[in-house]
Amino acid sequence: MKKFLIATLITSIFMACNSNDVSVEKKEPVKMEITERVVTHEVIVKGEEEVTEQTIRVAATSDVHGRIYPYDYAIDGKDDDAGLAKVSTIVNSLRGENPNMILMDDGDTVQDNSSELFNDLEIHPMVEAMNTIGYDIWTLGNHEFNFEKEFIERNISNFNGTVLSANIKNKKDGSSYVNPYQIFNVNGARVAVIGVIPPYVPMWESSSPSHFKGLEFNEILKSVQETVKKLDGQYDILIGSFHMGREDQYGGAGIYDLANKVPEFDVIFGGHEHAKYVENVNDTPIVEPGFAGWAVSKADIHVMKKDGKWLVKGIEVENIQTKTIEADQKILDEFKYVDDQAKTVANTVIGKVNETFIARPDFITGEDKVTTMPTAQLQPNAVIDLINDVQLKYAGADVSSAAFFKSEANLKEGNFHNKDVANIYKYANTLVGVNMTGENLLKFMEWSMSYYNTWNEGDVTISFNKDVRGYNYDMFAGVNYKIDLSKEAGNRVVNPMINGEAIDLAKTYKVAVNNYRFGTLTKHGWVNSKDKYYDSYEAMQDAGRIRDLIIKYTKEEKNGELAPNIHNNWEIIGVKLDYPERDAIYEMIREGKIVIPSSADGRTRNVESINRKDYIVAEEIVSYTVKTGDTLGEIANKFDIEISEILKENKNIKNADVIIAGEELIVPAN
Ligand SMILES: [Zn+2]
Repeated sequence: MKKFLIATLITSIFMACNSNDVSVEKKEPVKMEITERVVTHEVIVKGEEEVTEQTIRVAATSDVHGRIYPYDYAIDGKDDDAGLAKVSTIVNSLRGENPNMILMDDGDTVQDNSSELFNDLEIHPMVEAMNTIGYDIWTLGNHEFNFEKEFIERNISNFNGTVLSANIKNKKDGSSYVNPYQIFNVNGARVAVIGVIPPYVPMWESSSPSHFKGLEFNEILKSVQETVKKLDGQYDILIGSFHMGREDQYGGAGIYDLANKVPEFDVIFGGHEHAKYVENVNDTPIVEPGFAGWAVSKADIHVMKKDGKWLVKGIEVENIQTKTIEADQKILDEFKYVDDQAKTVANTVIGKVNETFIARPDFITGEDKVTTMPTAQLQPNAVIDLINDVQLKYAGADVSSAAFFKSEANLKEGNFHNKDVANIYKYANTLVGVNMTGENLLKFMEWSMSYYNTWNEGDVTISFNKDVRGYNYDMFAGVNYKIDLSKEAGNRVVNPMINGEAIDLAKTYKVAVNNYRFGTLTKHGWVNSKDKYYDSYEAMQDAGRIRDLIIKYTKEEKNGELAPNIHNNWEIIGVKLDYPERDAIYEMIREGKIVIPSSADGRTRNVESINRKDYIVAEEIVSYTVKTGDTLGEIANKFDIEISEILKENKNIKNADVIIAGEELIVPAN
């Protein structure tokens, strides 16, 4: 939410001082011939002092995904947790303390955050930035293979340090594609670093075999064990520089397995998982710095020479977060052309929004900023229906479902820029089309509807389950349905119809979801991988992101003009909100006197319904049912207030002498 506000502010400043003809310093694209690379195993010397005790410092970034400036170009907003410019400041300070530091990047470096804009330059800015900062090691990540092989070849050649991967081999002769390991000599202590990549690149890139032409990707554990064996006697300290997660997503070896099965490692630096952690497994510290440049992982390995051998005395491992760190001005200056061009693209107008999609984003206040209940999750809305239309179209599906990722997601009347799409689609998900039985589709719908709390007598608001994140509430298109909130979860979907017919439990429907939700469906056993009939990532790679599909749809299907198109295919039933106190309670919510509770972690808002009864207990508002023989004077006496105060809250009383038995009165707090 904060990000959104900052983004808006920056946008307006940007728009004020820039026209569309921002001149961008462009560098000329140069294509390189792919030549055979000979992998050498020269030891790199770092420090030649005669010492008997020292601290060997190793630092690593991972999954920086195209970030140099602390900026997210998809939303055109600052991202304080990101970028090599901030990393550089930390590296300078760490290297200042220990000049022999070994600096590594564990992969997924060149892709994302508009960095593709620069793929045709002779040196990609991410590689250039790693060179400027002085990286010693670059372990390839799977996203390095998202592009034509010429691109990765060029990046490998242009990187000044050593490119690692022990499990990528040339098909023709089984030789290593890049270095499996690199040995450093730090003041006499020999430090070996081994790199690996997930072996699934051929599967992930199956729609573009040219990306990994001539290469094979071997199983990790065996590759690492073989490399360690080969290195026997050549190192004192062994480091893992692994582009892989703690657990493998397809059941192969993960970092936990490696730490357990290859005890020779002193420290393992991980990646790929986009997680931040420091753990200890089988006496081996393992660490990952998260995503985008969130942190620099650092290990200080204290070693001592005894009888001619270096022994590890202790290891300290930590993640140093970039959030509060100043970006290195030298890096900002060098890569200003990247920032300028990416911002220009973010602000490029791709179409027009004819009318604001969600007129009253907050159900109670009507404000753009949602502080009470998001209207978009209580009734059909044009934002979700646009996303669903896009998904239905490109997946050729009968049914589509999508979640509202941000309470403030909206399209405002006016120009539609590239960056605006991230406002309605926060994540870089891709589209999946999957065959699902009517029976499982219903289970999926019921699962989604568990987002709501059951409505209770007296509730004047509709609230959400504190244990369900908003991104796990899907709204459906292609199916007409009602959600009965008087029923418990699992029993709420009423009268679901597809094409005018009740859902046939035995029939198979084509359902469009994002890749994350496909994982959910698989996890619950409602579909399996064989049911997938369409995958936008396989079909179009990065252009297959739902964000990009929305842009494509706007341009190609809507001629650049978007107007709200609400399907009105669902509604909430089984609730009655219009109690006499409702307006007074809503007024108190607007005034901030009643705060709708959020989950303890603050991530889900509106987790408890506001019930009129609570306000009797809280003595904020009392509801009083008039009994036979009551007079206003007696009621006022009873609550120790003035008659005029009762009249003020109950505008329906035209004559103070005539009150009717059974009538509900609002009695304000004393
Ligand atoms: Zn990654």
